[in-house]
Amino acid sequence: MTLNASRLSLYFHGTGSGGHLALGSAAATLEIDGDAALLIDCGPGTLASYQQAHGKLPHAIFMTHAHMDHIADLEILTVRARLQNQVPIPIFVPLEIIATLHQRLATYPGSMAEGDHNFWQSFQLIPVTDSFHWAGLNFSLYAARHHAPGSAWSLHLPGRFFYSGDTRPIPEVLNHCLTGNEVVFHDCGLMANPSHTGLDDLQREYPPALRQRLVLYHYANQQAGDALRDAGYQVASPQQRFDIPG
Ligand SMILES: [Zn+2]
Repeated sequence: MTLNASRLSLYFHGTGSGGHLALGSAAATLEIDGDAALLIDCGPGTLASYQQAHGKLPHAIFMTHAHMDHIADLEILTVRARLQNQVPIPIFVPLEIIATLHQRLATYPGSMAEGDHNFWQSFQLIPVTDSFHWAGLNFSLYAARHHAPGSAWSLHLPGRFFYSGDTRPIPEVLNHCLTGNEVVFHDCGLMANPSHTGLDDLQREYPPALRQRLVLYHYANQQAGDALRDAGYQVASPQQRFDIPG
């Protein structure tokens, strides 16, 4: 399989913001030739959506950061994977957030009532820094701007797509690291705040050609999504699939 021969799509499980989960917690699956290849984040409800869409447990996961609306369902997944005797699921985790992820999910006493289970037994932890290979593709990651420096990351498949994760605008990344006509899936709500991008940020921070390639997600509710659309942007909805041109 080569990069250019692959038909890629991104399926959104949820597009909501952390405090408003009516639209689900923000998470998406990269599909290669129609098959689920890499789940990005696993917050509350993501696992149910994934199983509904793909009929199985995730094959592999990338974590953007360790906020609960992006990691909570890993607790359910570690138990399900164990009960189904699944081989450990590769989970690509930026090196800087491993300790936080461990503290938040893996230190709970007695992961299973039956005993004899540790959180990480269900996963193959793969620490990642600048880039990693998976499913014949070579991904890059970049620090996003979300809470503490070095605590949140964007995922990039050069020439195909960029997934911002939770972030303020990151023009220093997008203006310098995009290599082609990537589709840019980007955090954006109606109102900006210190952790997230808002509508007025986009015009100030990004040139018109880039704004046309944005697909916005991580907004409060349907009304906010409609307002972003009315402003001329593409907006992702839950259970929506985007083809990623080659
Ligand atoms: Zn977050």
